[in-house]
Amino acid sequence: MVVCKFGGSSLSDSGQIKKVRNIIRADSQRRFIVVSAPGKRNSSDIKITDLLYTCAKNAAEGIAIDNTYEIIEERFLSICYDLGININEIKNDLKKIKKNITDGQGVDYAASRGEFLSAKMLSLYLDTEFIDAADVIKLTEDGMVDPSSYNLLKEKIDSKRIYTLPGFFGADSEGKIKTFSRGGSDISGAIVSRAVNAKIYENWTDVSGLLLADPRIFDNPPGVSEITYQEIRELASLGTNVFHEEAIAPIRDVGIPINIKNTNKPEEAGTMILADRVSDTVPIAGLSGKTGFIPVMVKKFMLNRYPNFHCGILSILKEIDANPDFIFYGNDSIVYMVDGLKISDSSLIINSILTGQGSADKVEIGTSKGIIGIVGEGLTHKVGIAAQVISVLAQKSVNIHFASFGGSDVSFLIGVDDGQFQSALNAIYSIFKD
Ligand code: ASP
Repeated sequence: MVVCKFGGSSLSDSGQIKKVRNIIRADSQRRFIVVSAPGKRNSSDIKITDLLYTCAKNAAEGIAIDNTYEIIEERFLSICYDLGININEIKNDLKKIKKNITDGQGVDYAASRGEFLSAKMLSLYLDTEFIDAADVIKLTEDGMVDPSSYNLLKEKIDSKRIYTLPGFFGADSEGKIKTFSRGGSDISGAIVSRAVNAKIYENWTDVSGLLLADPRIFDNPPGVSEITYQEIRELASLGTNVFHEEAIAPIRDVGIPINIKNTNKPEEAGTMILADRVSDTVPIAGLSGKTGFIPVMVKKFMLNRYPNFHCGILSILKEIDANPDFIFYGNDSIVYMVDGLKISDSSLIINSILTGQGSADKVEIGTSKGIIGIVGEGLTHKVGIAAQVISVLAQKSVNIHFASFGGSDVSFLIGVDDGQFQSALNAIYSIFKD
């Protein structure tokens, strides 16, 4: 059995949904369809999920949702008209949902309805069995997948029919709708794949898989045919977001392969995400990077004699919503790299650490840094990659502020000033692009 998850761009209008139908009909093993809410049709469009978040916010503030909700109704009904789908059921659902949002059912309920309606609509169009994710996907209090979901799903599947499920949400232990984080339909697809022990999890989107680097920065980067679960997670931590990083969790133990495919070019092979790959010939799977990290350096003499010191700092940073994305350790200091967007006031960080963790000697906030990640299973067994990177950066007069190798066996991180980020990325890309 094959599980197919279609992202928002694949459901954005009737033309895209016809492509989805053709893909499903082309292979009888494609028996589980997981969908996102309709996405943008063009760059000035608004995603259905974003409109629903606006409705929830307005409803909470007592503002009428009619105007925004009308755009949502219009969008679903026009797709139904175009595809010749009987609109009665969708119309009824739209009415009920509007009332529930207005009555204050909350943000998660509202946000989830894009996927709910999308799955209902597709199910009517393709004449498949609709399964409500709230009945089978259970989330724990901290938003993780409750393993009971796998059995609940298995029990629902009793025929050889094709099933359609909405992505992005499930329910908590009391049956209340709860969503995953944004882009979370990828996680739903992974849960279904694990539950039905899928041969492959096809993740259909608007690109033909992953590229070696960001196509918004570089012209035509080469495609990546295979990448491992670990590599994709490392790339995601620095902004590569073709696939939700938490979606690996349900399937990594069972090793189900994921195939990122393009709904607009189904004939292209896309990228396979696998438990393992042979990395001898292609040591690097990708480059990614982000600017805007603020180094918070906490100094303490003989740090290694105080095992609880680091834990204390981490809880202080969590309390003030400044969780670090990366951490670098020195002998008498630790540097916490915190996304600058989370820091509105540096003195709050300094004071919180100095007062909360009274024994710190000093806290210093550095200037904004960019971090580049060179990710590949081949890093640990191919000699000379780090040397190549460092020498090409020296040729371009890029000052390396920090480098980390060994914290993960598949990535090499380089930190530079934000102002030198682009030339550093260009230089590193030039090594691997061919
Ligand atoms: N529709 C949700 C979002 O926009 C979830 C998803 O598309 O996966 O984030």
